[in-house]
Amino acid sequence: MSQETSRNIGPIVLLGPPGAGKGTQSKRIMEHYLIPQVSTGDILRYNVAQGTDLGLAAKAVMARGELVSDDLVCNMVLERLRQPDCKRGYILDGFPRTAAQAGWLDALLDSEFFDNTRPTRAWPIVIRLDVDYNKLLLRITGRRSCPACGRIYNVHFQLPRTDEICDFDGSKLVSRNDDRLEVIQPRLAAYQEQTRPVADYYERTGRLICVNGDQPMDEVTKQIYHIIEDRRA
Ligand code: ADP
Ligand code: ADP
Repeated sequence: MSQETSRNIGPIVLLGPPGAGKGTQSKRIMEHYLIPQVSTGDILRYNVAQGTDLGLAAKAVMARGELVSDDLVCNMVLERLRQPDCKRGYILDGFPRTAAQAGWLDALLDSEFFDNTRPTRAWPIVIRLDVDYNKLLLRITGRRSCPACGRIYNVHFQLPRTDEICDFDGSKLVSRNDDRLEVIQPRLAAYQEQTRPVADYYERTGRLICVNGDQPMDEVTKQIYHIIEDRRA
């Protein structure tokens, strides 16, 4: 067994506004520490694409750039965290996004839901990526992703080797339905109104670590790895 697959990492929460780099950094952490990325946005988009009951309930809300109800999202997260691949740890990308979700997560990790020997009951490492508002707009409108493997690109900052084609599997890159200007505004507003209090909650309890997400991707990654090593040493 390699060192990374035998080491317990525990929960990691990545906070930050839309376009801050949560997905990009989650994928790097996932590959480095071999723990899964639990992206509520990705799981919801998958459900919308599959036309499940959850997807049908979430579709219109997401298209308007609003938040899906806490009940639906928390149940979805609970089901995901029960999977055996979350045993050594996981990265929560886009969750918690409301104060209620943050309280729910703390209660869950404090409960007997996870067996006592599981490292996933540890307090999460909470990292917020901070990015200048005007840069967020450019990042979001320029975002492209691979519908097959989920890798993220950008027409300004992270070009694929061949125009509009995924470097890894050759799929044609797509834009997200909610990355349109008219939907970006309500998403950023939802972040300010509903998700900022989540960071305040973690700050009050002395758990918030801020990283300047305006730096080049590799530098952001380096700082995140340092934080993880420091906290889990
Ligand atoms: P989030 O998951 O927080 O919405 P993403 O990881 O999808 O953010 O990143 C949004 C866009 O910005 C993507 O197109 C990505 O390639 C780009 N991006 C991410 N991090 C950086 C960075 N440090 N510098 C420049 N562009 C970035
Ligand atoms: P971004 O990467 O731009 O931050 P996400 O992919 O995380 O966006 O989320 C896309 C959409 O999915 C959100 O605008 C919201 O409608 C829904 N969503 C994702 N996570 C949550 C959550 N934790 N609570 C409520 N709604 C969510």
